[in-house]
Amino acid sequence: MNLHLINLGYGLLDLLFPPNCPGCGLLGLHWCEHCHNKVNKITPPFCEHCGNPQSLQLKRCDCSQTIPHLDLLRSYAFYLPPLSSAIHQFKYNRDFMLANSLAFYLHNMYNEYKLESDIIIPVPLNKKRLRERGFNQAGLLANNLAKKVGLPYVTQALFRTRKTRSQVGLSRLERLANVQDAFSATPAIVEDKRILIIDDVTTTGATMEACAKALKEAGAKVIVGLSIARALPTSNGFSDHEIYPTSV
Ligand SMILES: [Zn+2]
Ligand SMILES: [Zn+2]
Repeated sequence: MNLHLINLGYGLLDLLFPPNCPGCGLLGLHWCEHCHNKVNKITPPFCEHCGNPQSLQLKRCDCSQTIPHLDLLRSYAFYLPPLSSAIHQFKYNRDFMLANSLAFYLHNMYNEYKLESDIIIPVPLNKKRLRERGFNQAGLLANNLAKKVGLPYVTQALFRTRKTRSQVGLSRLERLANVQDAFSATPAIVEDKRILIIDDVTTTGATMEACAKALKEAGAKVIVGLSIARALPTSNGFSDHEIYPTSV
C-alpha cells in the first residue's frame, strides 16, 4: 500500500475513532500544541560530547570513557510528562501517527547541530521483541527523519547478534554488560560512512555506544546518536523505569 493510501486510511480512522492527545487527553489530536509547548527541552550548559546537562553531573563528565565510539550524543528533551506519555503511547499503544510529531524533535536537533550524515539507521530491536511489538519504534522515527532531511534510511547496516533483556530497570553497569558486543555491522554498507543512529529514549547511552562500537569496527567514520528524550537518574534507577514500571 502506498503512503498516500495509508495516510488516507489514518485520516478516515481519525474521523471514526478520534484520537486523544497522550499528554492532556484533548480529543481530536495525536499531539497538541499545549503539550508540545510543555516539553522540557534540554538546553545548555551541557557536555559537548554526550549532551548530559551539567546539573546532572556529579563531577566532570566521564563520557570519554563510557561512550568512546560515539562522536556525538544528543537528546531533545528530558523523559518527563507530557513527552514521556507521547513516547509511551507511540511505543506501547501503537499510535503510529505520533511518529511524525516525535520525529519533529529529531529534525529540530539535526538542524540545530548542523549535522551532516550519509545514512540514517535505527537502533535495531531483537527479533523476539520485534515479533511481540510488531514494529521497531526507532525505525519509524529514523525513517520519518530520513524523509524530512532527504537522506537514505538504511535497515541492513546493523544487527543484534544475541538476545538482550530490556534495559529498563537495570543499573548503569548492568546496562553496559547487557548490550556489550550485542551488535554487528555490515562493512559493505557502513565503511567510511557518517552515520546518524536513532533511538526513542537514551538513559546511560550504553545501547548507543554498543551500536557505535560495532559500526566503527566495521569501518564507519563518524557516529552521531540522536534520541527524543533522556531519562533522568532517580533514587530508584532512571525515570524510564519509574514513570512506567510495567512497560518492560
Ligand atoms: Zn495535549
Ligand atoms: Zn559527557
